[in-house]
Parts: sequence; structure tokens; C-alpha cells
Amino acid sequence: GRPWELTPVTTTCPYCGVGCQIDLLVKDNRVVGAKAAGHGVNGRHLCVKGRYGHQFIHHPQRLTVPLVKKNGRWQEVSWPEAIRKVAEGFRQIKQQYGGRSIAVLASARITNEENYLLNKLARLVLGTNHIDHCARLCHAPTVAGLAAATGSGAMTNPIKDIAGADLILAIGTNTTETHPVLSLFIRQAIQRGAVLVVVDPRKTELAKLAAIHLPVKPGTDIVLFNSMINVIIEENLWNKPFVEERCEGLPELTAAVRDYTPAYAQEVTGIAAETVRQVARAYATAGRAAILYTMGLTQHVTGTDNVLAVTNLALLCGQIGRASTGINPLRGQNNVQGACDMGALPQYLPGYQPVWEESCREKFSKAWGGPLPAQPGMTVGEMLQAACRGELKAMYIVGENPVISEADANHATQALSQLDFLVVQDIFLTETAQMADVVLPAASWAEKDGTFTNTERRVQRVRQAIPPVGNSQADWQIFCALAEALGRPMRYRHPREIFDEMAALTPAYAGISYDRLVKEGIQWPCPTPDHPGTGILHQEKFVRGKGKFHAVAYRPPDELPDRQYPLLLNTGRRLFHYHTGSMTLRTGLKDVYPVEYLDVNSQDAGEMGLAQGDRVKVISRRGEIVMPVRLTDEVPRGMVFASFHFPDAAVNKLTNGARCPGSHTPELKVCAVRLEKL
Ligand code: SF4
Repeated sequence: GRPWELTPVTTTCPYCGVGCQIDLLVKDNRVVGAKAAGHGVNGRHLCVKGRYGHQFIHHPQRLTVPLVKKNGRWQEVSWPEAIRKVAEGFRQIKQQYGGRSIAVLASARITNEENYLLNKLARLVLGTNHIDHCARLCHAPTVAGLAAATGSGAMTNPIKDIAGADLILAIGTNTTETHPVLSLFIRQAIQRGAVLVVVDPRKTELAKLAAIHLPVKPGTDIVLFNSMINVIIEENLWNKPFVEERCEGLPELTAAVRDYTPAYAQEVTGIAAETVRQVARAYATAGRAAILYTMGLTQHVTGTDNVLAVTNLALLCGQIGRASTGINPLRGQNNVQGACDMGALPQYLPGYQPVWEESCREKFSKAWGGPLPAQPGMTVGEMLQAACRGELKAMYIVGENPVISEADANHATQALSQLDFLVVQDIFLTETAQMADVVLPAASWAEKDGTFTNTERRVQRVRQAIPPVGNSQADWQIFCALAEALGRPMRYRHPREIFDEMAALTPAYAGISYDRLVKEGIQWPCPTPDHPGTGILHQEKFVRGKGKFHAVAYRPPDELPDRQYPLLLNTGRRLFHYHTGSMTLRTGLKDVYPVEYLDVNSQDAGEMGLAQGDRVKVISRRGEIVMPVRLTDEVPRGMVFASFHFPDAAVNKLTNGARCPGSHTPELKVCAVRLEKL
């Protein structure tokens, strides 16, 4: 059939946090195409992933029946048998060692309704607060830092606002590749005459669009921002009325940045002192200045402090709480914002209601019909350490692939192999699923109803286009079956009922319902059914009352190059692929970008005798991988770069598991490696 003859089902893109609205084209219960829905943040635009990335749905390797491992071999079993086996496994471990010996990994790939139910299953039924998800690898420093300073860890402004900024300060974000449709708003701003400043050690496509590119040495962001603040205070460019009326802690900030002169910044960051002054003045005096950032800022041992340094800058200049300003951490995965909102974090119940606060616990305990554990649970990194120590006995991993995505992946693999019982629920037999005792086949996003929350806090519908492939089931149905088998039935006829229960317990979502989620979605907070939703946060006052300055100091990365490992490895993403590749490597995008290359600076390559395409062994203190090299000037001398999309060149076998103490996010952006030509 031709596109106009096929039935379109409007849903939300399953890839990045922009949350583009797409029409899936359906014929004979098969998704055969996709196009932009014509509304939503994307209008008529989609990037290659949204347009061509749906073919994994019907890939022959889709998991279609539950699998149980017996004597090292997979056996297909019925759903009742699989659910019985999983329930029995968890029940035994809980009886013997207690609920705290079980941990759950929720997922930014499943819906809000499913994250909410999994949270309920973990805390109420399994009796554990050990629930976490991949936000730990990306925006946990944002949740910790931005919330401490403003009261909310969420993006402050709507995506479309970016087009109206006079200055955009983009930090550690390769937006044109990782959030392609959002980058169109940056281009619009530039066409209007906005100044784009990009802080990134790499000369990315976005850096090439910038009026000013600041190629900072990796891990030195605090020095740059403290120095900009030093200049702004010194030259009296700060927004006095805003700070005096709405912020607290200025004396501490002033004292903390005193020694961060532009000359010192030049020495540490590599950016000329005069350029630091120029950017500081431009940011402070711009009418509307918007900050965007992603993992280049957060994936450091100082991730939370980096976020605080950037927030100090925005507060000091009053560049927050107005249109086209603000602090905009761009979420990576389609529903990583929603998974956090739904309480897939060890210390929070849905809506960031602290599990350690008795009143919050009581509220959920009453609604859910049973007691909840009080002590906050472990983060992913802590779970893996506890598994190695033998304290954690079982894990239920839903839609995540830590064997490839965790820092120091060999350690993650070793930790999972220590467990007595591992259950993985996914759409493919991922590298993590291969280690499981039981694998439960989940339906993909095209096969179920629900909601995702995009990076700008917009709750949008996910609509079922086709029935579940094979004998797979929607994640929410699997959670219900498991709860029933564990003696605490959770019965829902449709995700709409789960959403309503969640909204009644989560103030920011209280006014949202499926009936209201027609085309554009609604941005939380939306407290009542007649509330239009909130585009811009912190307009009258900060969510926490006053905006709070935090004194932060520079600490170098945990592991820098030395004589033995002379190169700095930086990691990230590419346009054509997504995370551990389990979806995009099973689409036509693999033909466009079939293998991963290690980006090596051309001059460095010349000195090492490396030519384009040469295969090298990349070795760190934690592991080694083999891949071909690509000679480029996009990376500075002394740095190499690769994405983590390709399991056959799993770059996280090399990365450093050292973590930010405030957020437990690993330092995925900096480690030391050496190359051996093969
Ligand atoms: Fe999907 Fe993001 Fe691309 Fe939009 S920009 S089509 S949400 S991957």
C-alpha cells in the first residue's frame, strides 16, 4: 500500500527525549512506515531514527515466548510457567534473605504507567526500595543539583522557547546528533541573530555552528563557570534586583569564586582569559540567555557540582523564570523524565515524594494497601557492588542492558554473574538477557497504550498500533501477573486506569487525564483538571522558595592520561544509533552506519603511524576492545572518542566506574587508554 492508503496511528517516538509525534503506518497488523504527525514539538520534522528506526518491531530476533535457562540452555515455556518460576524465585529469596536482597532496574523505555506499576511491585510486593534506572548514567546529577538549587530537577523552559533566545550557552551537548529535531530551534535562533556559544572539547557539528566555541579540557567545567561568575561579580554585571529578591547565599558564592580569575581559568581549561571574560559579559548582558546541557556536563565525578556551577551562573544573572532563558538539561531517552517522575529512583516515591518521610510513605501505603520499606534503596552502582559482596541475591531488570551501558562493564557483568537469580524482561535477547535465569518477552512501544513524558515535562500519549508480536505481552500486564502470583493482585483493564491511580497520588500530574491528552500533550506541573499545564518553571518564585547559590570547587577527573595510558577516552552517541544498539542495530540504520570507529586526531594518528581504517586494540586499566580508527580533527590532540552503541566494540569495558558522590553517576566522559595497532 502507498502511505496515504495505510491507517496512521499517532504515537510518540521511542528514541530520544524530544518526544516527536509520529504517525505509524500500519498494514495487516504490521508497521510498514512512519512519518511526522504534523503537530507536537516536531511539526513536519523527524530525524532518521524517528523516520526509519521502527523496523526492529518485526525483526526475526524479537523475543516471542518466555525462556527459562536449564543446564545452560534456553527452553521455551508457557507464560503461566514463566510467571510461576519468577514468583517462586523472588519469594524464596525474600523469605531467606529479606526484601533488601532483591533489586529492580526500571526503564526509560517503558511507559509512565509501567514505571509506576513496577515501583509499586518493587516496594509493596517485593518489599525493596532498591529500584533505579538509567537516569543514574545521565541526569542524576541534574536531579540532585538543580533540585537543590531551585526545588526542581526538570528542564525549566519549553523546547520551542529556544528559538527565541538571544544567546544560547550549549554545554557538553552534541545536539544535532543526539536531539536532532530540537537542534532545529537552535538554528532558528541563530537565523534570528542569536549568539551560540558551545562548550565542548570536541569540534562537533553544533560547535561548527557556534559564534564562539570553547574547547575546554575535559572535566574543567567548574573552573570555567566559576571564572565567568568571578568576572560578572567583579564587573558588576549581575542582576541585583533578581538576586536580592529571589536568591540566597550570594556571600558564600562570592567567596567561593574569588580565586577563579580568568588567568587561572586559562591555565586549567585551556580557554584564553579574554575569551572567558567575553563570554561572561555576553551571557550576563543578553536579554534572554538559555543554557542547554547534556552528558558532557553530568558524566563526571563532579557531575552534581558541575550542574550547581551552571545554576549559580543562571541565578546570578536572572536568566531563569522567563521565556527563552533557563536551564535546560536535555533528557536522552524518550521516557527518562517520566521514569524519574514515576519514582524509579531508590529514594523517591512517584512525584519525588521522599520514601524516608513518613507522611509520604503513609499516603502510598494507604493507597496501595500494605506497608512500605522506609530506608532508601541502592543506586545501580551500589547494587552491583552489593552483588559482588554477595549481599544482593536477585535482580529484575526491565528494558535495560547494563552489561553494555554501565561504566566498567566487565565489573557489571561479573556482578550480575554472582546473583542467585536474574530475571530480564526485554524485546530482544540482549547481552544482559543472555545472563538471565528467566527471560520475559515484552511487547514494544508500538504494541501498547500509555504515556511518555518528554524532556520539557510534556506528557504525551503512546498508542497501540498493532497487537503484541508473537506471544509477547505489555510490561504492565507482566507486572500484574507477577503481583498476582506473589499474592498481591494488581488488577487493571487498561493503562488509563493505572494513569488515573498514579495522577491521584502525584500532585504534578493531578490534572492530567487521557481525555485531555489529545494532540499536544500537557506539561507538568498540572495540578487541576482545568489547569493548562506549565511551560516555564520558577516564574514568580522558585519551587523551593528562594533560588540557592552553592559554593563549588574544582576537582580534577578521577583518572587522567599518564605514561602508561597516554590518551584520554571520551564517549557519547552518534546520529544513526541509539544506546546499546538493541533497536537501531536491527533496522536499516545499520546499513547506513554499520560499525563503530574510534575517532583519533589526525596529527596524533600521523605520529602513531595510524591510517584511516587501521584496526587498533584500545586498552584501559579495566578492559580492552578492538575497533577501526577514523582520522578526524573533531577530537583535539590527546583525545579519542567512540560511541557506546556497538556491543562488539563495547566501549564501556574501558570506562571508569568512579562516581560522583552526590549522584552516583559514573565518569563516562573521561578515562585513560592506550592504543596498539593490530
Ligand atoms: Fe525521535 Fe528524537 Fe529523532 Fe524526534 S529527534 S524523531 S524524538 S529520535
